[in-house]
Amino acid sequence: MNAPSPSLLQYPFDTPPAPGRALEIAPGLLWIRMPLPFALDHINLWLVREPDGRHTAVDSGYGNDTTRAIWAEHFATTMGGAPLARVVATHYHPDHLGNAAWLARRFEVPVHMTLAEFLTAHAIRDQRATHALADSCELFARHGLDRDHVAALAERGNAYARGVPEVPRELARMIAGDMLALGGSDWTVIPGFGHSPEHASLASRAARVLISGDMLLPRISTNVAVWPAEPEGDPLGRFLLSLATFERLPEDTLVLPSHGLPFRGIAARVAELRAHHQARLSELEEALAEARRPMSAGELVPVLFRRPLDLQQRFFAIGEAIAHLNHLWRAGRAARSAAVGTIRFSA
Ligand SMILES: [Zn+2]
Repeated sequence: MNAPSPSLLQYPFDTPPAPGRALEIAPGLLWIRMPLPFALDHINLWLVREPDGRHTAVDSGYGNDTTRAIWAEHFATTMGGAPLARVVATHYHPDHLGNAAWLARRFEVPVHMTLAEFLTAHAIRDQRATHALADSCELFARHGLDRDHVAALAERGNAYARGVPEVPRELARMIAGDMLALGGSDWTVIPGFGHSPEHASLASRAARVLISGDMLLPRISTNVAVWPAEPEGDPLGRFLLSLATFERLPEDTLVLPSHGLPFRGIAARVAELRAHHQARLSELEEALAEARRPMSAGELVPVLFRRPLDLQQRFFAIGEAIAHLNHLWRAGRAARSAAVGTIRFSA
């Protein structure tokens, strides 16, 4: 969901590195970019130079030939022919995990990630245990997504497998609060919820840097959606609680987000995101009050998204609408009924 950026944020680097190039943004900390085949057209990845001259890769890019060709350039230039020391994945989404197994196998190194992200990646890749496309189609149909859009979604097939051709077969497990030694200093694993099941951000107190992954982005609000494994869940509530953890980091922390430019101003950004979601919740509440009848999430998508959406965006939009409505329901600000198959919310 797009949020206007009135911005009290400072962006110390105004130009991202070109594909195949690296920008050293702090001693031993390199910023690289890879393209994405979506409306959101890029992801930022980070390389941490280790004392022995190798690098740790934080996130790995969408798994296709384009990004692998860019990696090949980095192997020769940025990494000077030295191997990777390890791969860290902030979460299971294809732009983050897509090349992890490929990199890990090539350099015979572990993939550090949290257990829920690892298991979710396998469940979606293999279409199991309520993580299949059919489960999403069923959930969204029950929430009033129209027939054509459900059919178009079903026709996409296993989009996850296209971006993650291979999921790591084993992991080096990261848990909230763990210390990870990267580049000769300690990084704390900070858990995040609501965007993915067990997202890991990494904070270095010494370097005053936070690798935020998708939990804290400067210009767009992170996708927070309900998925079929937890249809009555409150991912938005969990996301808002997670923001409080980031807010406690030192104010001069440089935030390295997966999309957009590095920025300073964590507290301001957290405040913007809170205000953004509270405004959306209030708009939905007002729409329900005005309608004077129960409405489905599908009917309410235009309240949250006033611009035209492509298929991928519609898919995220309905999940996001359900997340906001479930949050209102769980907070006692809306009622929910599931009579005659369709789930509807009312004031
Ligand atoms: Zn993500």
